[in-house]
Amino acid sequence: MTVKTASLDPVIVVGAGPVGLLCALELARRQVPVTVLETEPGTTLDLRAGTFHPPTLEMLQPEGVADAMLETGIKVRYWQARDREYGLIAQWDLDLLKNDTPYPFRLHLEQHRLTPILLAKLKAYSHAQVLFSHEFISLTQSDEQVLATARTAQGEVQIKGRYLIGADGGRSPVRKSADIAFDGYTWPERYTVVSTTFDFEPLGYADNAYISDPEQWLAFFRMPDAGPPGLWRMTLPVTDEISDEEVLAPAFAHHAINRIIGAPSGNTYPIVHQSVYRVHQRVANCFRAGRVLLAGDSAHVNNPLGGFGLNSGIHDAVNLGDKLARVYHGQASADLLDLYDRQRRTVAMEYVQNLSVKNKKNLEEKDLPTRLARFEELRQAVADPVKARAYLLMSSMINSIARANAVT
Ligand SMILES: Cc1cc2nc3c(=O)[nH]c(=O)nc-3n(C[C@H](O)[C@H](O)[C@H](O)COP(=O)(O)OP(=O)(O)OC[C@H]3O[C@@H](n4cnc5c(N)ncnc54)[C@H](O)[C@@H]3O)c2cc1C
Repeated sequence: MTVKTASLDPVIVVGAGPVGLLCALELARRQVPVTVLETEPGTTLDLRAGTFHPPTLEMLQPEGVADAMLETGIKVRYWQARDREYGLIAQWDLDLLKNDTPYPFRLHLEQHRLTPILLAKLKAYSHAQVLFSHEFISLTQSDEQVLATARTAQGEVQIKGRYLIGADGGRSPVRKSADIAFDGYTWPERYTVVSTTFDFEPLGYADNAYISDPEQWLAFFRMPDAGPPGLWRMTLPVTDEISDEEVLAPAFAHHAINRIIGAPSGNTYPIVHQSVYRVHQRVANCFRAGRVLLAGDSAHVNNPLGGFGLNSGIHDAVNLGDKLARVYHGQASADLLDLYDRQRRTVAMEYVQNLSVKNKKNLEEKDLPTRLARFEELRQAVADPVKARAYLLMSSMINSIARANAVT
């Protein structure tokens, strides 16, 4: 077995997804040596996340990442609450947050366009290295260090570090190696994602819209793709009676679009991408076990309604990068890392889990009086700038940052 050593013990980051690369960048820019281990041979073509909230863009700005994202992303000032039967219920104007954030909009950009930006920024630091085709297998830790074992094409290697961050996604081998429980549940239905070049804008759809329906709700996002006019991406739930094969067939996508726009059942559309996946609500029992820390999906997973998953992972990375750098340089005791756990776990439980579940329940509400009462509440909120701003501070995650900072 080869043992890889660095002149200074680095922080090891497992996973070169958006959260892992950002953890590495946050540490590298604070003069902490980092080594990133990634199973895949390069950054992946990940089509999952696509919405970035204002505080996330603020956090991505110090290294110029937000500016690079703005070059190709779509600025979404308005987003809608709609209903299949009742049409437009409320249209929110994020410009109401112009005194709260320099980014009063959502930014739509595919996750796989963010990771190369982060990687390029990281490469500017000679004390940062990214080892692709290195699959983390296990770890051991002592009072002084962490020893990670990774599988490569040439055999197993060991990497020594002072700390290790697991940013290795929902299945997180790091979380399992550190024996941290991941309590929560899996929803019975799967979600499918369909992307089409069919343009919904002339039908009155904003670039982002959530459409309630007791049978099959929808979430709409216009994504930049390779350039204007971009792609319309829809997420919708599917029950277990429909097989994956049926969900992934073009006929399913054509039928879904015909149902949305009320077109004849034989109409077809250009479909660019389809996928289907299971959805979970889980939070790790702790985000720190000695010298091992968790961030992003390895620490918490949730349904995508509200676009909180990656955004909260980015908030983890920025919070952790600052604290871990201070501990690494001897400016703070390791207890500061427990504050990371308290702040970010609190928000994962109170905010991300609660709000994503509430968003889902609202979209699929079956009881008509409850549905109509919610529509009325939304109409009243959107018509009142004070109420509308309060709603947007919550849905844009600005409140979640204030809540985390209030935890001591
Ligand atoms: C359909 C869909 C839509 C979504 N939309 C949004 C949205 O609009 N906004 C939002 O905020 N979130 C959204 N999310 C959630 C978002 O995609 C995730 O929260 C995000 O990908 C988490 O990033 P991560 O870096 O923590 O993990 P990942 O992106 O999963 O990256 C983990 C990395 O670790 C690597 N890895 C895994 N195991 C190992 C190992 N053993 N050794 C080395 N490397 C390893 C993987 O190859 C991968 O590169 C969505 C999710 C889905 C499914």
